[in-house]
Amino acid sequence: MIGAGGVGGVVAKKCAQNDSVFTELMIASRTKAKCDKIAAEIKEFFPNSKTVVTTAQVDADDVAALVKLIGEYKPKMVINVALPYQDLPIMDACLETGVHYLDTANYEPKDLAKFEYSWQWAYQERFQNAGLMALLGSGFDPGATNVYSAYHAKHHFDEMHYMDIVDCNNGSHGKAFATNFNPEINIREITANGRYWENGAWVETTPLEISQDIYYPRVQTRKSFVLYHEELESLVKHFPTLKRARFWMTFGEQYIKYLSVLETVGMTSIEPIRIKGVDIAPIEFLKAILPAPESLAANYTGQTCIGVQIKGIKDGKPKTHFIYNVCDHAETFKEVQAQGISYTTGVPAMIGAMLMLEGKWMKAGVWNMEQFDPDPFMDAMNKWGLPWHELSDIELVKD
Ligand code: NDP
Repeated sequence: MIGAGGVGGVVAKKCAQNDSVFTELMIASRTKAKCDKIAAEIKEFFPNSKTVVTTAQVDADDVAALVKLIGEYKPKMVINVALPYQDLPIMDACLETGVHYLDTANYEPKDLAKFEYSWQWAYQERFQNAGLMALLGSGFDPGATNVYSAYHAKHHFDEMHYMDIVDCNNGSHGKAFATNFNPEINIREITANGRYWENGAWVETTPLEISQDIYYPRVQTRKSFVLYHEELESLVKHFPTLKRARFWMTFGEQYIKYLSVLETVGMTSIEPIRIKGVDIAPIEFLKAILPAPESLAANYTGQTCIGVQIKGIKDGKPKTHFIYNVCDHAETFKEVQAQGISYTTGVPAMIGAMLMLEGKWMKAGVWNMEQFDPDPFMDAMNKWGLPWHELSDIELVKD
């Protein structure tokens, strides 16, 4: 596993819980002390785990260093939970060393606030020719949301027409301003223009332009905003009957107020500026002074609710169906010393890796989650801490 942040901690601990599949795990990251801390926590909190855990330092931007480390350790696969910037170097290293690959976020160039699958889809032939598999986006959204969509398509609809992915964090970490996962990636995502799919084309919006109140079952009604999220790109490609696909996320008023001030004064810019002879992007500086996502965990209360609503046709009749998960921050802290956002990402990463290692999801090439049979993944979500629920014929997201 590469990356030892909030998500990495959860992945490692879930692997340690699942020690009959993950018999050996190396935690490698830029800062070895963070890997050692996770390894120590596994010893402390999961003393009966038989997983043999080792740690190493690696700069995942450096393909040669990755090839050396992977070549020495000889894993079956690499779980990439570093940052989206590292996806391509890690995929290159996997190809060179002949190991499978999994990540939770699509590639994003550091100097361009843009993410899309084209860069990783371009590896399709190379992975196929090498007989290796790359599973893209095995987190919650993307990840579980893609699997929910495939489950809808398999079990509930003859044709899916309208898709709304909804993501609510109704939790509170008690800080005036903090982001729940890597601040740089999070802020780049939110301050970008929104985009949704309608009638065969992308419709662009200004940031946070479209909103509505959405009821999140078992949680609350919250104001939610349309933003562009990476799974929309693969889902509209793989489910071509979709007439519209949107992604909604909740943001509190305080969060938006802080973000808009930071943006107005230039603190979210990715353009480096020179200070005392050093070039630094304001957003990188901001990341350095904001609380680390994993540090929010101890006092986090409340729940997340993430789900997918589909409207379409079943047996000639119109139908609306919703699949969702509710995750409690305090519960996840009790279990793996992490907040719910890291947990909802880390558990699907472990499950995706498990299905690959068990050969249940194993096919040479580069794949998105909805391209596999959703059933084993859905079963595993119930077993490994992210149970899902269904609601029929209630329209939670309006047209
Ligand atoms: P963090 O910032 O907490 O952790 C990132 C980790 O990657 C850190 O340990 C960091 O090292 C390490 N890292 C960064 N650059 C390098 C490098 N060049 N070489 C080696 N290691 C490096 O982020 P999160 O844990 O919150 O997020 C991890 C990933 O999960 C991200 O890609 C994020 O986009 C994705 N994600 C996906 C979600 C989903 O639902 N699909 C939801 C949330 C997150 P260091 O400690 O030295 O900084």
